[in-house]
Amino acid sequence: MPDVFADLVGQDEAVETLRRAAASAAAVLRAAHAAPSTGKPDVLDALVEEAAGKAPADPGGAMTHAWIFTGPPGSGRSVAARAFAAALQCAHGTGCGRCPGCHTTMTGTHADVRLVVPEGLSIGVNEMRALVLRAASTPSGGRWQIVIIEDADRLTEAAGNALLKAIEEPPPRTVFLLCAPSTHPDDVSVTIRSRCRVVPLRQPPPVAVAEVLVGRDGVAPDVAAWAAAAAQGHVGRARRLARDPEARKRRDAVLAVPRRLTGVGAALDAASALIEAAEAEAEASVAEADAAERAALQTALGAGGTGRGAAGAMRGAAGQLKDLEKRQKSRATRAQRDALDRALVDLAGFYRDALTMALRAPVAPVHTDTAEMAEAGARKWDAEGALRRLEAVLECRAAIEANVKPRIAVEAMMLSLWKG
Ligand SMILES: [Zn+2]
Repeated sequence: MPDVFADLVGQDEAVETLRRAAASAAAVLRAAHAAPSTGKPDVLDALVEEAAGKAPADPGGAMTHAWIFTGPPGSGRSVAARAFAAALQCAHGTGCGRCPGCHTTMTGTHADVRLVVPEGLSIGVNEMRALVLRAASTPSGGRWQIVIIEDADRLTEAAGNALLKAIEEPPPRTVFLLCAPSTHPDDVSVTIRSRCRVVPLRQPPPVAVAEVLVGRDGVAPDVAAWAAAAAQGHVGRARRLARDPEARKRRDAVLAVPRRLTGVGAALDAASALIEAAEAEAEASVAEADAAERAALQTALGAGGTGRGAAGAMRGAAGQLKDLEKRQKSRATRAQRDALDRALVDLAGFYRDALTMALRAPVAPVHTDTAEMAEAGARKWDAEGALRRLEAVLECRAAIEANVKPRIAVEAMMLSLWKG
């Protein structure tokens, strides 16, 4: 039976750190249960002092109350955070994968594990304050109160400050697990970073990703190898490519772009097609959630009603519906950006293949199925031309990240790709 860390692909070092921390946390709980009322400061106070810099950190990877999981998208930041949470709630203190503590944490139903997933572009201060407040309560299961914040880089400044206060003066049994791309100040504030222990995850090698697809998802080995390479180390993306024909179709369309660029008009057409494909993909991905939320809200508000107070209730309902629409709109924007970014990563992979071929570098291509086309590009453009095109794609990603309108950035990129 695999334990809770089995889904962390190619992350041996991080898993080792988390196992030691979980063992140390279990020892803390045992000590607390053995001497419940001595009145003396217990091990937890020592942990808090350590975190505040008053005592030396334990180099052996002992427990602490605030962690940041960093790594590129798809490396498994949130998978690692959830597995660690399970190990902390595990009846055996190991993350056995079998006990109720492990099971409920992994399926998202543990009463003492709260997961924050931003729906829009950012996590707001009200959401964070409410969360911090609830996180301060005594764990109902007698172990730890755990808050997992996915995409901690999307905290607003005010929300970050609310979180910082909680991390600076942590309730005795509360553990914060943050996930972010990196510890760069753009992603996580320096003050939050200084209070947390960092667990860096690396981009898993394609071989390790392919193994998971074969072993856990039952994907055929040749499909798994292709999908793992094409997804460039992103486990979830590799799984989708291996199993979802729609995802494969969208990727094919993106990789057809380079040979469609025959002139200015064609470049602008390709830009429109890419933007519209991202919009369609995003729409499909949020439509179901949007409809379910609207239905739930309407049920909660009790559709109709003519008695006393109905007019007031209607006014309140209009406000709530407006709030919901606002949240859904920002979620759709985020989904569109994510879809467009995935397309750009695929495109960058193609030009990277052309570059490594022009340089005769002994590395495997990202996209084995367009290797011939990349080879033709390498001959036509040479290394310099391939590099300029790769840079054009990366600049487009950076521009969109910096809030340039996607259509403008993509049109500029397509023209650069055509001109070279
Ligand atoms: Zn367990």
